[in-house]
Amino acid sequence: MSIIATDLDGTLFKGQTLIDGVREGLIEIINEGIEIYYTTNNSSQTPSEIKNKLEDLLQLNIDVSKIITPLVIFQNLYSDNKLNIFIYGSDNLKKYIKNMNMNVTSLEQADLILIGRKEENNNSEINEIIKNVSLGKNILCLNKDLTFPTEFGEKAGNGAVVKIIEDELSISIPTLGKSGNHYSSYFIQNKITVKFVIGDRVDTDIIFGNNLNAKTFLVSSGIKNYLDVNMADIQLNKFSDVVPFLTEQS
Ligand SMILES: [Mg+2]
Repeated sequence: MSIIATDLDGTLFKGQTLIDGVREGLIEIINEGIEIYYTTNNSSQTPSEIKNKLEDLLQLNIDVSKIITPLVIFQNLYSDNKLNIFIYGSDNLKKYIKNMNMNVTSLEQADLILIGRKEENNNSEINEIIKNVSLGKNILCLNKDLTFPTEFGEKAGNGAVVKIIEDELSISIPTLGKSGNHYSSYFIQNKITVKFVIGDRVDTDIIFGNNLNAKTFLVSSGIKNYLDVNMADIQLNKFSDVVPFLTEQS
């Protein structure tokens, strides 16, 4: 049985709107017996919230264990150690990490700083983080996406804050998102052999696919890419255009 990993934002939907032909395409893929992993850098929603959104939009049952987000990668990496962790991000994110049995603490008490996304950035908090990292504190980010697509256009993502810290300190912050080694290692460690990767971003989806030696499909239904689109094996307009390739070669 073939395994595919598809991106969500900009590939299956934009904001609350399903992209044309996605539901029909997925049904066709499922009927071929192809296994689908739903891979996303979205960290402002929990995997079960993403499952609910997918089920609402698609009117299909989705197995939550097939939804792989940076939070899943985080849990996989740190579930055995009770860390003191400072979270730059939403209250929702803090709640989720607390439920993983981590101590969510102040910056001063933290062993690890985790950068997520906030609706409104807080510059003094960012400056404090920069100071703490320069003094040797560990830092990780959920993803490095500079933007993400919505039906109202692109919005600033996690990556904007990550880049401020990286530029200020001339460091590269390890990411738990697609493009990072932690994300592709999850698939390798769990012996999930992904044959095809579909996504709208070269800097995340296509690099993730290349890390797994999968065949990569770049769709143009999402964001504008700043990296070379020729890094993808095949370029198409949208998810439903990919379906014939998958069902032929599975
Ligand atoms: Mg995307």
